[in-house]
Amino acid sequence: MMLASLKRRLVPTLLGIGMLVFLWGPFILGLAGVDLHGGFVGGLIYLALVSVALLFAVALGVREHWFLSIERQQITTAEKTAGDLAINRSQFVLESTTDSVLVLDRDWRIVYRNKRALALLRGRNLAIGVSLWDAFPEVVGGPFDEKYRWAMQHQTPIEFEEYLATMGKWFEVHAYPSPDAISLFFRDVTERTQIREQMTYLAHHDFLTGLDNRPRFRERLEQALATASTKAQVALLSLDLDEFKEVNDTWGHPFGDAVLKQMAERLRSCGRENDVVARMGGDEFAIIRIDLGSPDEAARLAQEIIDAVRAPYDVEGQSIQIGASIGIVISPKDGIDPDRLFTSADIALYCAKAARGRYRFFEPEMAERVKSRQALKADLGIALENSEFHLAFQPIFNMQAGHISSFEALLRWQHPKRGAVAPADFIPIAEETGLIVPIWEWVLSDACLEATNWPEDVGVAINLSAVQFRSASLPLRVASTLAKTGLKPERLVLEITESVLLQDSATNLAILHELRTLGVKIALDDFGTGYSSLGYLRQFPFHKIKIDRSFVKDISDSAEDQAIVEAVTKLGHTLGMMITAEGVETRQQLERIREMGCDEAQGYLLSRPVTADKVADQLESLSSDVSRTSLWRRVG
Ligand code: C2E
Ligand code: CA
Ligand code: CA
Repeated sequence: MMLASLKRRLVPTLLGIGMLVFLWGPFILGLAGVDLHGGFVGGLIYLALVSVALLFAVALGVREHWFLSIERQQITTAEKTAGDLAINRSQFVLESTTDSVLVLDRDWRIVYRNKRALALLRGRNLAIGVSLWDAFPEVVGGPFDEKYRWAMQHQTPIEFEEYLATMGKWFEVHAYPSPDAISLFFRDVTERTQIREQMTYLAHHDFLTGLDNRPRFRERLEQALATASTKAQVALLSLDLDEFKEVNDTWGHPFGDAVLKQMAERLRSCGRENDVVARMGGDEFAIIRIDLGSPDEAARLAQEIIDAVRAPYDVEGQSIQIGASIGIVISPKDGIDPDRLFTSADIALYCAKAARGRYRFFEPEMAERVKSRQALKADLGIALENSEFHLAFQPIFNMQAGHISSFEALLRWQHPKRGAVAPADFIPIAEETGLIVPIWEWVLSDACLEATNWPEDVGVAINLSAVQFRSASLPLRVASTLAKTGLKPERLVLEITESVLLQDSATNLAILHELRTLGVKIALDDFGTGYSSLGYLRQFPFHKIKIDRSFVKDISDSAEDQAIVEAVTKLGHTLGMMITAEGVETRQQLERIREMGCDEAQGYLLSRPVTADKVADQLESLSSDVSRTSLWRRVG
């Protein structure tokens, strides 16, 4: 730039001096009195003057040129210094940057690399002139190769993160192409990527079990539904543990956590490799089966899971068992919207939970039933204070003595709008909500009070839910009611089911022993419906075993049922227990159970449950029936 301005100055200077001499020369000479037109001398003087002027002009021009060349030299030197400085500075920048830098020519040969690059890529040949592909043969055809070529081809900078397996490192790369080179700025981001991956993992997984969490599961369900071909079905299984709260309450949360971890492992090993298993929170889990062949396949998976979950858990030297219930929906049959599928699976689960340890497929009518169950729950909350409950009493007949030995008190709910609600419909809700405790306290005192009106040798039996064993004050409650009503303890029979001994048996056994110490009798109800019943007989000295009516139903025809009833009766007697057969509806059944050695019978044949005011009649008629032996004759 400076050089160009000097050139512009030189030409007008010279022209200006020339013009000056030609125009002003004669005038100056005239002033000096020289006659320029005055012949030869005048011509000579004029010529001399012009020559002097020209010489002067040339001298000036040379001087100017000299100045100019010096100036140009200075400028070149300055420019060169500036250029050198710039190169040094950019090298300095490249060397001091925190990035590693590689500059490659258009043939991918290294033309420059900074110290950081050498350090980071130690062990690689990064000599000037070496091809990138020779230094990193493993990247040829891979993502690095692809991206660099794309940047060069499109002459567009590109940035990306990529893993180089041979170095076990993640790199963040910025590539800047130019027509004849490409500059690669890169850094090792392995640690950062690992942290980020960990964060992503934590955001997607359940902390305790390592299974997918709820948000991740939803994503996976959406993906499964989106990618499912028109023919393929997807099954969603919603799982809930039965009474897991009890485990936490009894053994503490660390114990519960350990159980959940073991359980998660079992869920993982169930089914197929590509099944998605997630913990949705608490004791809720969910499973997706992609490419489901048929609903049967979902049913098999559900049963496999239920069986796996049910196997005993060994934690801190304790062995416990937990049941699981499962609700199943199948897409597209039950819908294709994830939210709807979740809701429907939960409804199916809700219905499955009523049966415990079962799986249920979603049915559209279930939604209605669940709604009405919710309404029932709300109504149950006020039923007690509205005095909507009453008791029915069903006689239990002692076949040897020939008279009624006791009455079983059975709870009845007369709903103001629905009418009579079956215990099977509301007792599970009462148990689930904890309402069973105040309701049962009412049952206990009302039944004991009624029984004080009966003959001294007639007892009263009351059903006791497993959930009531959560309260250690149960024996105290019984003792105070007995004291208040004045009923002798030996006239009270408490009927419990095997589920009381299924969980936390040590605590529950202690409560049972306390109750026994009070002098009340303990009966094992619905015997045979659990799956290891005989084992329970050794755990506690029951007064009585009530053989479930499912064994009595076919006893006349089924040799198997006969054998079971006979064996249980013998075993019970050996252990000093009374045997009662439930659900006796026919004379043949009555005769059979008598032959098998049962002590007592209960069932519609003898009497349906009756209201309290009919108890006296029952006592009268059944005893007189027997005294006239007509019942036996009828049987015979
Ligand atoms: P459960 O303890 O097995 O009571 C006997 C049930 O069998 C009663 O049904 C009774 O009416 C019925 N039953 C008696 N004889 C026959 C028969 O010959 N054939 C047939 N098919 N059934 C017969 P209910 O009253 O509907 O009670 C059902 C269940 O509800 C009871 O079964 C018991 O587990 C529960 N329950 C009833 N009252 C109470 C209560 O106060 N507390 C608790 N926790 N549970 C209760
Ligand atoms: Ca019972
Ligand atoms: Ca029973």
